[in-house]
Amino acid sequence: MTSDGQSGGVLMEEFLKHFKDLSRVDERWLCDVFEGVRQQLYPLISPSLSLSVVQLTLAVLSKIQRSVSSDDTSLPLSYRFVSLSELKREQRTACCSSLSWSSAHYREQARRAEQALPNHRALPRDNLLLIGYLCDGRDVGASDGVWRVRDAGESVPCEMLKSSPLWLGRLMLFPTWNYIPQNAPVRGETTAGYLELIGSPVCVTPEPMTFDPGGSLSEVMSVKKAAELLKQRCDVQVQVCVSGQVSVVCPLLVISGKSFFCLILSEGGSSVPVLITEVKHQYWQRCVCVGQSVCISALRVCSLRGWAGHPVLSVTRQSRLHPHVQPQENSEDTDTHAVMDIQTHTPDTHLSSGVASSSAPSVRRKHSTLISYKGVITKILNAEVGLYEIDKKVWLCLAYQPAQKWGGGLRPGAEIQLHNVHFLFRPSPFAADVVLCACLRTSVQIITFSCLSSKVEASGSHSPLQCHLLEKNLGVSQFLWLSYCHNAVKERLCPRWVRPERVCVVTGRLLDCVCDAEQKTHTKRDIYTEMLQEPHKCPITTYCVCWPCVVLWSVKQVSDWMISEVWASLSLSSLLPPAAAHMTSVELNAALSWSVHTVPLAEAVSDPVLLVGILELDSTRATLQLRDQTHTLDCVCVQTDQSGARTSDINTAWLGCLVCVRRCTLVMERFMKTDFPSWKNTDQLSYITHKHCRVYLQLCVNDLIIISPSASMSIRLTVVSSESTERRANQDDSGETFNRRETAKRRREDDGDDDDVSDAPTSKRPLTPCVSVLFRLESKQGVTFRNCSVSGDTHTLQLAFVVRATCLGDVQSWSSDPKNCRIRERERDGARTTMEMHFTDVCVRWFPVLNPGTVYRLIALNTEDVSVLKAESVSVRGGVKLLSSPTLLMLPQWRIHTLTEQLPDTQAADVPSLMTVSEVLHSSSTLDIISFYGVISQRITLQQDKATKPSIPSVTAAKDGNTERDLKVRLTVQDCESAGQIIQVYVDLSCGPYTPGLIAGATVLLHHFQRKVSRVCNVYCRSLPISCVTVTGLGPVNSRLVGCQSCPPMMLLGEWASGRTQQCVVAEVKGHVVCVLSLRLQWTCSLCGSVFKQSSCSRTHPACDSNSAVFQAEAKVVLEDGSAEAQVWFSSDTISDLLMLDAAQWEGLQRHVRVKGLVRVYIRGRNMMCDVDPDDCLVQYLCCLCSSNTVCRQIHLTCRQRTHKTGKSHLRKVCRGLTEFISRFTPALQLHCTHIHTHTHTHCNTHSHTQ
Ligand SMILES: [Zn+2]
Ligand SMILES: [Zn+2]
Repeated sequence: MTSDGQSGGVLMEEFLKHFKDLSRVDERWLCDVFEGVRQQLYPLISPSLSLSVVQLTLAVLSKIQRSVSSDDTSLPLSYRFVSLSELKREQRTACCSSLSWSSAHYREQARRAEQALPNHRALPRDNLLLIGYLCDGRDVGASDGVWRVRDAGESVPCEMLKSSPLWLGRLMLFPTWNYIPQNAPVRGETTAGYLELIGSPVCVTPEPMTFDPGGSLSEVMSVKKAAELLKQRCDVQVQVCVSGQVSVVCPLLVISGKSFFCLILSEGGSSVPVLITEVKHQYWQRCVCVGQSVCISALRVCSLRGWAGHPVLSVTRQSRLHPHVQPQENSEDTDTHAVMDIQTHTPDTHLSSGVASSSAPSVRRKHSTLISYKGVITKILNAEVGLYEIDKKVWLCLAYQPAQKWGGGLRPGAEIQLHNVHFLFRPSPFAADVVLCACLRTSVQIITFSCLSSKVEASGSHSPLQCHLLEKNLGVSQFLWLSYCHNAVKERLCPRWVRPERVCVVTGRLLDCVCDAEQKTHTKRDIYTEMLQEPHKCPITTYCVCWPCVVLWSVKQVSDWMISEVWASLSLSSLLPPAAAHMTSVELNAALSWSVHTVPLAEAVSDPVLLVGILELDSTRATLQLRDQTHTLDCVCVQTDQSGARTSDINTAWLGCLVCVRRCTLVMERFMKTDFPSWKNTDQLSYITHKHCRVYLQLCVNDLIIISPSASMSIRLTVVSSESTERRANQDDSGETFNRRETAKRRREDDGDDDDVSDAPTSKRPLTPCVSVLFRLESKQGVTFRNCSVSGDTHTLQLAFVVRATCLGDVQSWSSDPKNCRIRERERDGARTTMEMHFTDVCVRWFPVLNPGTVYRLIALNTEDVSVLKAESVSVRGGVKLLSSPTLLMLPQWRIHTLTEQLPDTQAADVPSLMTVSEVLHSSSTLDIISFYGVISQRITLQQDKATKPSIPSVTAAKDGNTERDLKVRLTVQDCESAGQIIQVYVDLSCGPYTPGLIAGATVLLHHFQRKVSRVCNVYCRSLPISCVTVTGLGPVNSRLVGCQSCPPMMLLGEWASGRTQQCVVAEVKGHVVCVLSLRLQWTCSLCGSVFKQSSCSRTHPACDSNSAVFQAEAKVVLEDGSAEAQVWFSSDTISDLLMLDAAQWEGLQRHVRVKGLVRVYIRGRNMMCDVDPDDCLVQYLCCLCSSNTVCRQIHLTCRQRTHKTGKSHLRKVCRGLTEFISRFTPALQLHCTHIHTHTHTHCNTHSHTQ
């Protein structure tokens, strides 16, 4: 035992002598208290008090006993003395402790609080004795105005509801308090936590002295007088004592290390600002509140540098704060009338007060009003930026104030009083209707601490978002949007693509995307004006109403919207062509089996929408995708190059870029298996047996805004910007280039390091040895399932494709990854060789970014072995050496980078130039594997032939279940320049991953297709396993416009037939119907296609029990236009127009035909006749009609050539009136009428039928 211990023992005995009849428990408890006082408190008390340890402990004990609610004199044995260091060290969860509460009181209070906010639990109760000194932080070297409780070992910050300067430096017993530990320690403090002191502390030691006023109170000056004094700008030497009511308490500010705060004293109509700059008076900030009357002594007049021309009162070292000079202590009650009730507040008064003043007329600005408000915090929306919910309906924004340390007691359940807070109505669609926003003039005061436990995030310094707000001088509306955006980015992109500390930078750039700099920037904040000037003016005085209102959709949201829209927008009748009424069941169901619905992003919802995501490649679909953490969506991307032409040449630098999509088209393809017996049943959806959809985006990369470039994009932008600087002498700079240059510049400014977004995980290491080779892609084959050997003899179907490429030089080694940097001289040394590159499995992902004619750099990382990139020509199979080009098998870890530099000597000589549709149609070459381009004008799903080859068990089918089996389509592809040239292309989509984007209006490149000529000499194309379709241009969003844009040319029949010019496939003709060669009207069984008589099908072997039939008709006429004659076929949907029958007549005719099932009349000599029943009145009528002038008339048609067969020209006799003459005719052109124009209409834009 030490001497101290021994003396402690002696003192203890002396202490215990004061008690009689102690039980052992009592004695131990008293010993604990004594030890606590002796160790933690006694060393701190002033020697001037001349108290012994025993006296002090007895004083403490008497205060404890007096504070305990019960009257009996027994010791409060359930309470335990706690030192602050123990509290900080041991107390990991929040707790409360009270000497005065009964258990029933605590339980009732907890129950009520939990009922009000059911998501929170009440603070658990702990019986602890807390005794310590109250100090203002100077004792522990801080001048932050924060009060602290201190004992010999430790000090803990505290919040108080009400504090008096008289308490400072006194030893206090705290009867009731909450302790809130911090989850994460605040920077600079080992452990963190703070006390919420409920109820006034009890002073333990006797008062050492009477209060020193520090100046004579007899010279107290009123506010009115003081205001006059300031106006006179009199001698600044005078020190005055001013008394008045506090009307404004500003938050404590720390500017360049100096802390200060302001308050305004008012009386009547006068007010004086008081500046508290003295460190020793900073704690006053916690002692004064709005409405309180105070007297401050020893004030002097001074002028502020930051607020020139406005003298203020400033405290001196001698100043004292006298809180209760006048008996107006009950300040809160006197003030409550000023508290506004939000519920009774009518928003209209605010709506009308604002006058639009901004340059942008769409953005409405309003003035906010200053109010007082009292409410309960119900939710912490974002502690980091100071957003809270009050009373479950109002938002409180504290972002414009200095950050609250330790959350400032602003926890759910706490009751707060706000003074001089701005009332804003609907500042943002992403906040509550009413937002209370605090500025530097606002005081936030806690009236009741919350008795609920809640997670408290450590703060105390400005969050990056708040810094952004302060730097950019954003308005409230923009800040609320920023906060919304911050949450969205954090949720969807962080941490996978955006590091937590970069979220704010990304958010700031997104804000730049949605508002113009001009609309965003406010005047700079002037703190003195904001705090002191009357009338009040600050950044929150005016605000924008609900702006910006741009909604950020996650990829999942857009995908979900599309999936619901795709079926909501389904209208079967609108999908059907005009001829639907004449279609048999098979034709009808085929027509319904595929359809597409497109919506521009901007039209998807009424609010403007942005998509934010990362562009990445997908290996299972061989597509480019837009991704975030919620979902992925396929994208069909095109690019507009410098000449304005659209290409699919997407630079690899886009991969890994965080982009913002403002403009794109949402494409929804529907696939349905239906069983409709006829078009009349299309309202019965039960005939749909299966349906699924494919949704994807179509976008042009030029429309994308780069929010965070990939490492390669940064390199590219730097190259682009340096090139453009060189070239820019006279050229005018396009906005897009500017945008990119800015992005590149900004990127370099605010990113010391690289790759917040990057595809290459190794890119962080500064030195990565690697080897590379330059190659130019010559041709690319389509992605198909191929039999690949995995290991030994095991073979599986894998996605694969092959490209042919020219190596532009030898393999080079590098000390660090060159990515897509400029081409070095040495890279182009060496012989050029051709090779085949094989891409299998995950390497298939490179498919969308590889384009013929483009130069790429292939990189193998982490190796110095140049041989890995050497193509080998040893494809030996069974001892036979194949005569093929050397082959390089792409490995998953290799990278490919697009190089955009022009290499003068590597112009794509070997790349076969693409043919146009006209060239394909009229080619005389025997080449049957061709590549061409055109615009899709129609897509038809081909009927599945069930008997054909068994389908490949597709790998992707297993993965997404949606894949259409055996999907074969016929695309009608039109020449880009000449609308009359069309070709049918048969594409088998089942042998690889689905190709999105094959919709009407899209420009496509068709590589390696087989050109075929049909028996009737029509040219068509079909896909081969090596074929590859690439979408290079996106059509107009509204597919109905497509037909209009591609108006076929007007042709003379003679010209068309001669074949002198390149023959059109589709053209408009005007001519005279010479005669009807034949007309066939038939009711067809819609199931089997046999003739349908009356109400039954005529098929007998086997019998058909169908009860639905469709009316079909076909006519063949001779048309003549003076230059030549043509035979023109008309089908069901055009015949009523040809015969000039109105709807009723046409209906009647169909009814009559139903009796016989089939009527056919044809020309024999000059008369029409029929083989059966020539005397039937229907036959008579038809014969008569066909030879009448009604039918044989001048007519204007759009026709498609039926056959390209040509024959010899021949002589024929022609009659005109009474004259007969002989003329030489080229063989009759065989045409099919697709549309009859009215005789008055010649313009192609008016597509109305003659009905
Ligand atoms: Zn303000
Ligand atoms: Zn039938």
